[in-house]
Amino acid sequence: MATLTQNIAKAETFLGRFLKYGVMNHINGEDMPASEGSYFEIISPVDLKVMAHVARGKAADIDRAAKAAKAAFPAWAALNGDNRKAILHKIADAIVKRAEEIAFVECMDTGQSLRFMAKAALRGAENFRFFADRAPDARDGKSIYGIGQLNVTSRSPIGPVGVITPWNTPFMLSTWKIAPALAAGCTLVHKPAEFSPLTARLLMDIAVEAGLPKGVWNLVNGFGEEAGRALTEHPDIRAIGFVGESRTGSMIMRQGADTLKRVHFELGGKNPVVVFADADLERAADAAVFMIYSLNGERCTSSSRLLVDASIYEKFTTMVAERAKRIKVGHPLDPETVIGPLIHPVHEKKVLEYIAIGQREGAVLATGGTKLNGPGGGCYVAPTLFTGAHNKMRIAQEEIFGPVLTAIPFKDEAEALDLANDIQYGLTGYIWTSDVTRAFRFSDHLQAGMIWVNSENVRHLPTPFGGTKNSGIGRDGGDWSFDFYMETKNVAFATQSHKIPKLGG
Ligand code: NAD
Repeated sequence: MATLTQNIAKAETFLGRFLKYGVMNHINGEDMPASEGSYFEIISPVDLKVMAHVARGKAADIDRAAKAAKAAFPAWAALNGDNRKAILHKIADAIVKRAEEIAFVECMDTGQSLRFMAKAALRGAENFRFFADRAPDARDGKSIYGIGQLNVTSRSPIGPVGVITPWNTPFMLSTWKIAPALAAGCTLVHKPAEFSPLTARLLMDIAVEAGLPKGVWNLVNGFGEEAGRALTEHPDIRAIGFVGESRTGSMIMRQGADTLKRVHFELGGKNPVVVFADADLERAADAAVFMIYSLNGERCTSSSRLLVDASIYEKFTTMVAERAKRIKVGHPLDPETVIGPLIHPVHEKKVLEYIAIGQREGAVLATGGTKLNGPGGGCYVAPTLFTGAHNKMRIAQEEIFGPVLTAIPFKDEAEALDLANDIQYGLTGYIWTSDVTRAFRFSDHLQAGMIWVNSENVRHLPTPFGGTKNSGIGRDGGDWSFDFYMETKNVAFATQSHKIPKLGG
């Protein structure tokens, strides 16, 4: 296994081009700076040093990109599905070839550890392959018999779309939104998050090299309030696929109202992991720890609320705390690291503020709760567990998006369900019990788009992904992605000479 020193040297070679040349937009087949020449700096979460200058796109850049996507749309939409499939597989092949570069750049741009990011590029490639294989059938519909009528449905791509992604695992999430859009026959403008734009740029390069026609996929970097907002308001953009915070989702809905945008939202979560006394506690503790402390806790599906049967509360929270204390926090490229630095000092401040809020609210810090002095002096925060909490506390209700877990006891199943559902969010839930009837009953009433029983989050691409309540609108995965990126048309053929009402004669 390579050492940290070797990994850092390798990362420097991958990052050198960004430091030297910056990050340009890509519009209508051409790399270009932002129209006013403006740019912003991104910093490393490890040592807070500048990593690159990034084009700061604004309304004029979005307009250019949207027009390019509109011009490219008819040809791309009309392309045989097999041709789209072939190009998307070429993109997947190229992702696999550059997997190491993508992983290293992602680690340094986001602070996520190599342990988890090593596979991120491969998961991105799988996303492309999965939707590539479905491209030839994407237009298929149903035939529906009526009396004297045969209905035939078909689907066609909705048009140019906007894709707006967050900073936490930007590569994987970009592929997750972009691959189905392209497979469906849509063209697009992608606006990555301003904290971590580097791997979106690598992905763009890969698509260009794979032979994607110009204008089909355009990349505009910039801030949410500028480039993001302009994209959601642009009249040529038919739909917005968005992943990010719930309050940004509501802003986008308002911004897109005048142009009647179709929206797909994957938003925040404060997901319960519910542990009953009859569960396999060792496995439940491993899973709860994995789901809150992997990916630095910067994960929409993290199990950030731990609801535990009061009879095992002490024992179980001690098991979690012991595991949390052994987790290694360190440089993202250290092969031993589980938790790397948080993405940015602004986010670190938010997480530390929540830890202070939890203490003021009267919860008990069972472990963690401090900033750590890690390599490079970046945004390191210790894995944190609050016990003695109740569901009305802010640390139980609000998404912290860091390695902070809030543990709450419940006295019986009914109370567990009340606590689990007493929240604005409804993304995922995790249930641990050996009673299968209870698992059915509980999952039936738990308000969440995705629930895992006796498991951590194990993603299966054909299944629907998305949240209820303030966690989202719409579903991704399988055919659900095509429902968003495509319009369904119904054509009714008369099969009889039926009587037509005669008016005016
Ligand atoms: P964010 O909402 O701050 O930003 C996401 C993106 O939206 C960025 O590209 C940003 O520039 C853009 N944006 C911001 N304001 C905008 C505006 N007014 N108009 C258009 N675009 C705008 O989110 P974040 O902090 O980057 O990411 C963390 C959030 O993402 C968390 O809430 C997390 O739960 C959520 N998330 C959800 C999922 C999911 O699948 N449900 C997955 C990953 C992350």
